[in-house]
Amino acid sequence: MFIEPINHSQQAGWIEVVCGSMFSGKTEELIRRLKRAKIANMQVGIFKPSIDIRYHAGKIVSHDDNTVNAVPIQWAKEILALAEAYEVVGIDEAQFFDAEIVHVCETLANAGKRVIVAGLDMDYMGKPFGPMPALLSIANFVTKLHAVCIKCGGIASYSFRISANTDQVVLGEKDHYEARCRNCFNT
Ligand code: ADP
Ligand code: MG
Repeated sequence: MFIEPINHSQQAGWIEVVCGSMFSGKTEELIRRLKRAKIANMQVGIFKPSIDIRYHAGKIVSHDDNTVNAVPIQWAKEILALAEAYEVVGIDEAQFFDAEIVHVCETLANAGKRVIVAGLDMDYMGKPFGPMPALLSIANFVTKLHAVCIKCGGIASYSFRISANTDQVVLGEKDHYEARCRNCFNT
């Protein structure tokens, strides 16, 4: 279980990564942590890749329709200047960012900020997704969430693509993906 460090002011920054399959609750968990940081009167900045326009270009939205405003970003390095004034930095859908996101998160944490990153650990093939393996390695805290397998009700770690497209990035929701456990993913 992830215990939120309480007294931010007396510590250096750090990196939290929240990963898992689609529908595992990553965005919900990110929003929950960010809302609590706001309650603690922290200055909170939230960023997302501009490629992800599924619900709203300027918001992150969970599958339960929980939302917070977020700044759409094309290149990871843009976050550095934009995040300067914030004590807590939230980043959703980190798998879609370029490799520079790793250095960006480290730089922010080294500058004393709490960095909370959410993203898909695996693509629809079950392979590590973009910069996520590196982010997981450098994180100080890692939370791996699970969805409910659509086939058997088991613990789902995989995002099974039900459409025929074989590109690594196909934006979609239940129209393109099902959360599945290892067994149902492989059959
Ligand atoms: P993620 O960001 O990981 O894709 P969200 O935080 O947006 O996930 O959404 C999580 C919510 O999705 C759950 O609280 C639940 O209401 C809904 N949901 C839909 N399908 C599933 C599933 N197969 N397993 C678990 N939750 C699901
Ligand atoms: Mg999400």
